[in-house]
Amino acid sequence: KKPVIAIDGYSSTGKSSISKIIAQKLGIIHLDTGALYRGVTWFALQNCLNEDGSIDLQNLFSSFDEIELEFKNNNGELVLFLNHIDISKAIRTNEVSENVSLVAKQKEVRDFLLHSQRSLAEKGGIIMDGRDIGTVVLPNADYKFFLTASIDERTKRRYQELLSLGIEANEQQVKENLIIRDKIDSEREIAPLKQADDAIVIDNTNLSRRETIDSILSYIKN
Ligand code: C5P
Repeated sequence: KKPVIAIDGYSSTGKSSISKIIAQKLGIIHLDTGALYRGVTWFALQNCLNEDGSIDLQNLFSSFDEIELEFKNNNGELVLFLNHIDISKAIRTNEVSENVSLVAKQKEVRDFLLHSQRSLAEKGGIIMDGRDIGTVVLPNADYKFFLTASIDERTKRRYQELLSLGIEANEQQVKENLIIRDKIDSEREIAPLKQADDAIVIDNTNLSRRETIDSILSYIKN
């Protein structure tokens, strides 16, 4: 049976890009769970706003029936669709980044997304990255990793990622967003960001992407 691998960690530690390459190497599926929370946030920003521009959470909770999230395979790359619209780029905007942690801390939202995450792992052969995969979503994963890196290094990576997506960015704002998201994500009551007791911790501040991948692969038995 192919392995089930959980990758958690702080924002912009490279979880998704690393998981994607490992998935290709091992011939398994990769699920970026952050994209699901971003997708729900994008929907809320489009459809569930209060007059002052803040998100109306009750309205969002009663709209779950209208949200269909689906990953479609585009030449080996999973592209996120919400109600048949490709939102893979829209979910990376600053507006989504600034609101996603508030949305993700709601129990209703986490419950809404939990089942589909778990059911994808039932057959094995998956690498899932997020904040609570090793602790809550897949506590019985075959392998668990927890990635960290210094805030300055993470800021640099996220800033580069935004530029490469053609999204305007300011390094100081990027840094503040990472700090505040990590704080909200770590301090929330439900499924907080934290390392599982049995996770292997990798600080990749001074590691290249390649080196982080090799380190993870060195633990995985084929
Ligand atoms: O991974 P990414 O940075 O795209 O995640 C965006 C946000 O989604 C996180 O800051 C966090 O609030 C939320 N998230 C979560 N649980 C996960 C994955 C992401 O709460 N498993």
